[in-house]
Amino acid sequence: MANFNTHLNVAFAVSGITALTIYKTGLIDDSGFLLCVALGTAGGLLPDLDSDHSTPIKLGFNLASFIFAFGLVMHWRSDLSLLALMALWLAGYGFMRYVVFHVFTTMTVHRGVIHSVPYMAILGLGFTYISYYVMHNPLTASWFYGLFLFGGALVHLSLDELYSVNLSGMRMKRSSGTAMKFYQHKDRWWYLLLYALLAVLVYFAPPFETFLQQVSDPAPWAQLRVDMLPAMMEDLLK
Ligand SMILES: [Zn+2]
Repeated sequence: MANFNTHLNVAFAVSGITALTIYKTGLIDDSGFLLCVALGTAGGLLPDLDSDHSTPIKLGFNLASFIFAFGLVMHWRSDLSLLALMALWLAGYGFMRYVVFHVFTTMTVHRGVIHSVPYMAILGLGFTYISYYVMHNPLTASWFYGLFLFGGALVHLSLDELYSVNLSGMRMKRSSGTAMKFYQHKDRWWYLLLYALLAVLVYFAPPFETFLQQVSDPAPWAQLRVDMLPAMMEDLLK
């Protein structure tokens, strides 16, 4: 198992670099960029959320709530009054820190269930739903938000997987089995429930085809190539 700091740093680095690349293509705006980094980082901490009694997790969740609230304020910064923004900040923080955290920790006592790929896919997809249907964010941004949350969680699971193999390539006894979990027989009813829920979410998801078309459009990526190197270096290469 990788420790809390490793998870925090790696998730932040990976989502920071990825979000910056996407931002440079122009597919997401300023607040979208911040929210992607925040979600990717939060995703990197989520799988260990069931160990809710450990201080680092609480600290991490505080931080994630803070970033989430900040993301909300950034998103509506020009549409709302100062007072409304302050209320939004508090409400966003309170919602994440107390409601979401509470639901996660009470609902999932089974470590095997929350520390799994399908659970994280549900969270990611769930966030895309909220972003698109509730917050009315653009389709592309909404899909990126969900993917960043899920991607961060995958980074977490991969790290645990890496750390469960010691230097000589032998598996440590404690983490027998895989960290990158899709199914576990002892929790089969939980997994059945998870996959059923996931199927429903996939079926009613915001249009993924349209998102793919937007992302595979060569124009934004051409822009990225133009912006890749500092202007001075480009002059030298000419
Ligand atoms: Zn873990």
